[in-house]
Amino acid sequence: MTKANNDGRKGHARKRKLAARDGMVCWLCDKTMASLAKVHCSVDHFTPRSLGGSDAMANLRLTHPLCNKVRGNILGVDEARARVAAYHALAPTRSAKRKKRRAMGQVHRLTFEQKLAAQKQDEDADVFATERYAG
Ligand SMILES: [Zn+2]
Repeated sequence: MTKANNDGRKGHARKRKLAARDGMVCWLCDKTMASLAKVHCSVDHFTPRSLGGSDAMANLRLTHPLCNKVRGNILGVDEARARVAAYHALAPTRSAKRKKRRAMGQVHRLTFEQKLAAQKQDEDADVFATERYAG
């Protein structure tokens, strides 16, 4: 296990307990998590720590790291889930476009020329494309 995937023995045991209790499901977006590894799964405080929430199991939920980040410190369940849903509705483009490129047989790491070609294809396919390829 790499460091990036490791929560430490205690952290991982806690995730396993939460998964056993709630399932491998993100409480913010209702989608399943690929694994309990840190890149796929984080522990969210139902009542944020910054607002006095505790580390007790009753206050913990499993989430995707991104959903957790998007939620921030929003307290209301409906508000938090609505914010995460809105985020995912507005920002699916990056993974969708990567998936499309993969389906076309392109490798994950594109050369500069491939990036330009992909950008051209995306622009051709969708004149309203807003994604930048500066990165
Ligand atoms: Zn999620």
